[in-house]
Amino acid sequence: MFLFQKGQLIDNRYTVVFPHKEGTYAETYRVRDANGKQRFLKLLYYSKLQYSQLDKDGNIIELEIAKQLNHPNVCKYVDSGKLIANGQQLAYFVTEFVSGETLDKRIGRDGSLSVYEIKQVANALLSALQHLHTQSTPIIHNEVSIQNIMLDLSGTLENLKLIDFGHSRFLNQEPARPNLKQLNPFYMAPERLNGVSCVQSDIFSVGAILYQLIFDDLPWFFDASGMNDQKIIERLQTERDVPLRMPNIDIFELDEQMINVINKATQNNVQDRFQTAQEMKDAINGKIIVESMRQSSPAKLQGEKKTVKQGNGFADVAGMAELKEQLQSDVIDLLQNPEQAKELGLSIPNGILFYGPPGCGKTFFAEKFAEETGFNYLYVKCSDVASPYIDGGKGKIAAIFNDARQNAPTILFLDEVDAVIRDRSHHDNPITAGAVNEFLMQLNNCGKDNVLVIGATNKPSEIDEAALRAGRLEFKYYIPQPDKETRKQMFQISVSKRNYDFGINYDQLADMTENYVSADITLVIDTAARLAFRRKTGKITMALLEEAIRNTKPSLTLEQIKRYEAIRDKFLGVSEKRERIGFT
Ligand code: ADP
Repeated sequence: MFLFQKGQLIDNRYTVVFPHKEGTYAETYRVRDANGKQRFLKLLYYSKLQYSQLDKDGNIIELEIAKQLNHPNVCKYVDSGKLIANGQQLAYFVTEFVSGETLDKRIGRDGSLSVYEIKQVANALLSALQHLHTQSTPIIHNEVSIQNIMLDLSGTLENLKLIDFGHSRFLNQEPARPNLKQLNPFYMAPERLNGVSCVQSDIFSVGAILYQLIFDDLPWFFDASGMNDQKIIERLQTERDVPLRMPNIDIFELDEQMINVINKATQNNVQDRFQTAQEMKDAINGKIIVESMRQSSPAKLQGEKKTVKQGNGFADVAGMAELKEQLQSDVIDLLQNPEQAKELGLSIPNGILFYGPPGCGKTFFAEKFAEETGFNYLYVKCSDVASPYIDGGKGKIAAIFNDARQNAPTILFLDEVDAVIRDRSHHDNPITAGAVNEFLMQLNNCGKDNVLVIGATNKPSEIDEAALRAGRLEFKYYIPQPDKETRKQMFQISVSKRNYDFGINYDQLADMTENYVSADITLVIDTAARLAFRRKTGKITMALLEEAIRNTKPSLTLEQIKRYEAIRDKFLGVSEKRERIGFT
């Protein structure tokens, strides 16, 4: 039931000509102003707004955005106000009125558009977006679809208006995770499905519209009826890991450039799309040439570092003797005697797993191992790959392994590996089954390409069982906190590389640092060096080391260490590779 009926006055200024539409938090009306001019009025109920629709000052975002709109391809802002009616607080804004129909309805009635007309739509739509995106704080529309394109009665496509700013946000405001009952997911950029949006998210939607107008189907479309939001998102992410299929049909005036434009606009990675609406417009009009993106370049990763190390290899590593020996025979010897290994049908393992408490040298050992073998070293933080943002994980995983293969022999160090191969039964699993499968497949045969995967985790029990089987992360080594002898060696190795005084008692230092993890020992030595510098002694002394120990606390409590050991024992119980476990 509309609050105002035909002929009634809203805020004593606008006469209702026609109640238009009722929504969840607003009503829209066609009204007449004091001069008899037709206007469009949106009335918003404060009581029905969601928290995410207000800015930090309590203003209604949609209304603040409406005030800024002034472009031929959006409805011009006229007025706004507040009122109280029916015991409720309301706000409204008024824009110019367009009499006509949506593009969706027009196509439903008249059938598809020609490629020439589609380009007209794209040009007008991108002009509107360029206006939004170049405000002092860019406005992201967030819901660009053919339902939100309004054509006037003349039907002239250049005059179309982009409407409905209900989900729009300023760039510095997080949009809400979309409710897919209200919004069509097939127009939405991958990042938008996860509640993040940017200028390039609107560009993706324009790409989806172009595909739809040309091929009569939404890109990566599937029947989503009966699926909940989470299922739809997961399925869509998996679908979008595969390059967009362009139907092979003859369409008048559809050229390679237009196909490339659609491809570029709908890339999974934000950086691979057109960066601005203007750029996309220029591409559609042939001002810039767009290369074919079908073999898109592998996704680059945050947190990736690739180096061929020139350090001392195993000589820098204190303790861990058993682990060094084991890897010497399982990996290094095989590589140094390839003929013999081949005759015996041996190849390096595909993968090994380092697990145990943080700060005990998992990463450090892998780096030193790469130095020792002369392998390339590729470090990847898996929580970045598994990030729910932007790209589905599958394509990225393939890209990482390809990179490792191209630079083989490579040690591919996957830190926090549990993030990409988390037990699939975990409900908080951000990674799709497609990505887990891709990972397992890559693991199955990377050893023969001289890629050795070292996964590191402090949560081994959360790893999918399938990843731990023979031929995958097969060898498992618990890396514990250093024992007394290892701590002693750590002090010796590290101190001997710096300026130090006589009289350092390494046994005593090791005794004083019981339950310290390796990272803590490194911190102690750094602290002592800093004290020496500050006090201008120029040398690390026993007294300074003792002082540093007194001023630091071990980062893990005894209880935490016990917990890691309990995890280890439980994990060992389920692991068939018991005899392979390193030093404990
Ligand atoms: P993890 O990956 O297990 O969390 P790190 O490899 O980051 O731990 O280890 C923390 C720091 O401890 C390293 O940067 C290194 O300085 C030091 N460290 C660890 N293990 C050793 C070792 N065996 N010998 C010498 N230094 C070590």
